[in-house]
Amino acid sequence: MCGSQLKLFSPREEGPSVFEIDYGELWREGIRGLILDLDNTLCPWRAPSLDGETEELLSSLKGKGFRLCILSNGRLDRRHGILREMEQLGIPVIFPARKPLPFGFRKALKTLGVRKGEAAVIGDQLLTDILGGNLLGIYTILVEPVSPHEHPFTRLVSRKLEKLLGRRVRR
Ligand SMILES: [Mg+2]
Repeated sequence: MCGSQLKLFSPREEGPSVFEIDYGELWREGIRGLILDLDNTLCPWRAPSLDGETEELLSSLKGKGFRLCILSNGRLDRRHGILREMEQLGIPVIFPARKPLPFGFRKALKTLGVRKGEAAVIGDQLLTDILGGNLLGIYTILVEPVSPHEHPFTRLVSRKLEKLLGRRVRR
């Protein structure tokens, strides 16, 4: 692959988790909207609810003025706990997003009411979150997956491709 193609798979920033991102710096850079992946970014794959610490993080980010939305490829229809929590936090949820296709990301920008230069995508997968964000020119932040459990497709295909792209995951 040539350099510019590889760049599409490169996050602008990487961190061990959503707790270790410098949100103050993002704000100073003009980022106002955060487009967050759910599974293995904010909670383990298919978790029925968020843990307290993550809820606190999300509400503190809202308190700082960030607009947040969840963009998930998951079928969340039956995960009422998560949907209810997000509703209580006032965080819109867009699913199934079909990342890396652009439609969900565009919908997220519209929902947040921010331009692409004012948004950041935060997620654990190169082939969905990072590729999708980069394709639209949105700032991208890769985090380590919260748990080793994930969708079989992710485990069998996506993670192998990530390895070929040079990603090392600490687990
Ligand atoms: Mg994920």
